[in-house]
Amino acid sequence: MSDINPFENALKQLDEAARIMHLDEGMHEVLRTPKRVLTVSIPVRMDDGRVKVFIGHRVQHNDARGPYKGGIRYHPQVTLDEVKALAMWMTWKCAIVDVPFGGGKGGIACDPKSMSEHELERLSRRYAYMISDIIGPYVDIPAPDVYTGPREMAWIMDTYSALKGSISPGVITGKPLNIGGSKGRTEATGLGVAFCVREGAKKLNVDLKSARVVIQGFGNAGTYAAKFLKQMGASIIAVSDSKGGIFYDGKDGLDVEALIEHKTRTGMVRGFRNAREITNKELLELECDILVPAAYENQITKDNAENIKAKMVAEAANGPTTPEADEILFKKGKLVVPDILANAGGVTVSYFEWVQNLTRDYWSYEKVHDMLEGKMVTAFNDVYRTAEEYKVDMRKGSMVLAVNRVVDAIKARGIWP
Ligand code: NAD
Repeated sequence: MSDINPFENALKQLDEAARIMHLDEGMHEVLRTPKRVLTVSIPVRMDDGRVKVFIGHRVQHNDARGPYKGGIRYHPQVTLDEVKALAMWMTWKCAIVDVPFGGGKGGIACDPKSMSEHELERLSRRYAYMISDIIGPYVDIPAPDVYTGPREMAWIMDTYSALKGSISPGVITGKPLNIGGSKGRTEATGLGVAFCVREGAKKLNVDLKSARVVIQGFGNAGTYAAKFLKQMGASIIAVSDSKGGIFYDGKDGLDVEALIEHKTRTGMVRGFRNAREITNKELLELECDILVPAAYENQITKDNAENIKAKMVAEAANGPTTPEADEILFKKGKLVVPDILANAGGVTVSYFEWVQNLTRDYWSYEKVHDMLEGKMVTAFNDVYRTAEEYKVDMRKGSMVLAVNRVVDAIKARGIWP
């Protein structure tokens, strides 16, 4: 996490969009304030018999366009301001991909790596109980985030269903497949990134078949982005993870399938056959067409933005580019596909999962893939057009588009009473 208060950051982005689009003061104020904030204390009996109290939050930012939607994060550094910022970003993200959701987020300040599975189950179930009055398939639908996954989603769905007296798969997304998860959810974020890169390449007149791609971070988002971009014909010439980076500029770039197998076996990308080792700094500044930051925030800063050679930066990670770096990249004519668009594939397939849960009609992988493609391509072009219209970069364009859509919904519904 950066030193900057994330909620202040989120407010600054909103204020800037409001300035660009001459948003009226009242609407601006509505959007600056989350609609509901709930903080709960969660007592958990630990395995050694002690009772420990954890603090959790659920923030509901705006539901003008539909039920609140957003993940639940387990991390020692979870704060209310962080959850408020993430909830607001979810409002914008859902509006950009035009899914009928508002924005919410949840989090518990805890260190999941030091807790047993039983302790995590008791924590998740008690948290689900504490927020059960304000979530629901038509109210607020959580999902996984940092250090939560299908296992936690299953516990929360089960607890909620037990409390309400009937099975309710639509209360949460990111569930295991056998209890209502969606096909294609695991790869959704990386695939969404790949669709955005493909659309961006068209705008830049870059032929994806001869494009050279560099990916920072080889976890869920980075691995699938690499896999799908390779399938689209691009050469992946460098990747990295927390243990270091590798570079291979030979014909067709890295063999991504073999690299995934190597990473699964050894736990790192380093040591892959024929590849040269490089540092994280070298990787970001490599001569290439497309750079995909897929690790953490604040990777492209005022200190290295001048040295970025890629024509396009597609942000799989949340917040990898600082505002100062953004200005530098924009002046240099780089196309930055912002995080709230580039990594929205995950929430889009979460929406598909919810639709499948409500209709009890489960889709094929091909249908999920095609529907995701439609949503991402439309969203990319909507943002691109808005950026052109307002003569701003795609990040500001995405904010203007999102805020416009949310404000339209608030105005259509009216302020009651
Ligand atoms: P992950 O934990 O699966 O992967 C993160 C990767 O980054 C790992 O390979 C890790 O080794 C690597 N990494 C850590 N420090 C690094 C460093 N200094 N240099 C290079 N690599 C480093 O996480 P993920 O789910 O792939 O998420 C990555 C980013 O994408 C995060 O910012 C996350 O918020 C964002 N994101 C993910 C999803 C999703 O569905 N997975 C959705 C939206 C946004």
